[in-house]
Amino acid sequence: MVATTEEVLELHGRVRACTACPLHLTRIQAVPGYGPATARVMAVGEAPGENEDREGKPFVGAAGRLLTSLLESAGLDRRDIYITNIVKCRPPRNRDPEPAEVEACSHYLDEQIEMLQPDVILLLGRHALTRLLPGAGGISRLHGERVRHDDRVFVPLYHPAAALYNAGLRETLDADMRRVRGYLADAEAARARRAGGASASELREVAAASGGDQMDLF
Ligand code: URA
Ligand code: SF4
Repeated sequence: MVATTEEVLELHGRVRACTACPLHLTRIQAVPGYGPATARVMAVGEAPGENEDREGKPFVGAAGRLLTSLLESAGLDRRDIYITNIVKCRPPRNRDPEPAEVEACSHYLDEQIEMLQPDVILLLGRHALTRLLPGAGGISRLHGERVRHDDRVFVPLYHPAAALYNAGLRETLDADMRRVRGYLADAEAARARRAGGASASELREVAAASGGDQMDLF
C-alpha cells in the first residue's frame, strides 16, 4: 500500500529532527523531500545545496530550475514528482557527501521508496546511481537507460548541475529525459497488469476495437 500524506510528513519530521551524522551541525535545516505521497515518479539527487538548506526544499536553485524545465519539455509536471536526495543535509561548501554520511542517512531514502512505491525512480547523478544501483555501471554508460532492480524501474541521468554549464551534456540530459514518459507508461501498464486489471489505455483500446459502444465503461 502506498503511504498516506500523514505518514510521509511524519518521516519528514524525523528527518528534520535528525542528528545522526555530523552534517546536522552545519545545516540551517534538513531537506527531507518534496512532492505528493501519490507521486508515480521519484527523483533522487545528491545533497541539498545552499538554497535548499535555506528554503528546506530540494532543487530550488539553478540546478532545480533546469530540472523543472527539462521535466516540462519531456511532458512531465514537477508538481507530480516526489523529489529528494541521498543525504538530507547540506555538506559544508557543497563538498561530496562522505560514505559515513551516506550510510547514516540512506535508510530515510529506503523508507521513502518503500512508502511511495514509485513506478519510476530517476537517479540524478553518480551519487544516486552508486547508492541505489551499486555495481550496475557508470553514469556515462547507463544514462537514459531503464534499469530494473528489486522489482523497480530506475533511470540514471546526468545531474542537472553538471549540465548547467555544459551544452553537450544538457542536450544528452534533455534527450534522456524525453524517454522517461515512455518508461512511465510501460511501468504503469505493468502495475495495472500485476493488480489484475487492465490500464485505462488498454481498456480504451478494447472499447474502441469493439465499435465504441463500451465507452460507457468510463
Ligand atoms: N543538487 C542536488 O543534488 N540536490 C538538490 O536538492 C539541489 C541541488
Ligand atoms: Fe540525519 Fe541525514 Fe542529516 Fe545526517 S544528513 S543529520 S543522517 S538527516
